[in-house]
Amino acid sequence: MDYKPLSGREFPRFSGIKTFFRLPLADAKSDCDILMVGVPYDGAVSYRPGARFAPSQIREASSLGRGFHMTRNRNVFDLKKVADGGDCSVVPIDQTQTYEKVEKHFGEILSSGKKFIAIGGDHSLALPLLRAAHRSAGEPLNLVHFDAHLDTYPAAWNCEYHHGSFLRHAVEEGLIAPDRSMQFGIRGPLAGGEDLDFVRKHGIHVFTVDDVREKNLSEFLAKIPKFKGPTYITFDIDCLDPAYAPGTGTPVVGGLTTYETQRILRALEIENLVAADLVEVSPPFDSSQITALAAVDTLFEILCLMSAN
Ligand code: MN
Ligand code: MN
Repeated sequence: MDYKPLSGREFPRFSGIKTFFRLPLADAKSDCDILMVGVPYDGAVSYRPGARFAPSQIREASSLGRGFHMTRNRNVFDLKKVADGGDCSVVPIDQTQTYEKVEKHFGEILSSGKKFIAIGGDHSLALPLLRAAHRSAGEPLNLVHFDAHLDTYPAAWNCEYHHGSFLRHAVEEGLIAPDRSMQFGIRGPLAGGEDLDFVRKHGIHVFTVDDVREKNLSEFLAKIPKFKGPTYITFDIDCLDPAYAPGTGTPVVGGLTTYETQRILRALEIENLVAADLVEVSPPFDSSQITALAAVDTLFEILCLMSAN
């Protein structure tokens, strides 16, 4: 199969069946290198729902996606065979069954020798995705985590697995190496100062919006730590300021700009990006596709990082 996006010069970008970046559909049995897969589940949100509609909305907005990166000077779709893997089956009213399906589905993609980018859905999905990636890698992963929130919070309403607790579980289950993990875009307010205890105790590198913006951006980018080994990126769209990403469940003002996250993603030096996710886009709260377009561009930057090796 020819894993190239449908040409916008032959078929106008408003035409054609909507897939991620106008790519062909394929599955784990195909010979592609990277599968982009939707996971339309938002059963673990604490506030505004709607992220279940993100995969279809991001497919729609990605009609405007293109493959050539101006600063990297190469076309991602010339380097790797990328396809739309369709959606992972989920159970909207049962998280346990959804977790099982997600871990199995993405585990099969990895064991067929492919990489994946999962498009959520809410951030609780990062846990079964990390379980699959950790099993495939056979060692704790480096984590690059973009978020307004720490996502190390305790159980809510007696439920352990909500969209604000994936990172605590990932550390406790040994899925990631905390001292080789970093967070970008963190900001308050928090429920209490003790919310920071977990990341401090485990030595996770936390970069707040102040850290990114206090000096000039290039100085900050030069200080980003580099780690060897298999790496996973999880991108919660609410790391962006609501001006750049209004369509999300738990927006927090004072966030990163789209340009800042682009520059951070371009500055990352990752030896082996095995898998990634992009979560928390909630189309019912979006305006003029601002959030979906930010998601598409972030997916493009992640694809470029994934194609580097
Ligand atoms: Mn968040
Ligand atoms: Mn999150």
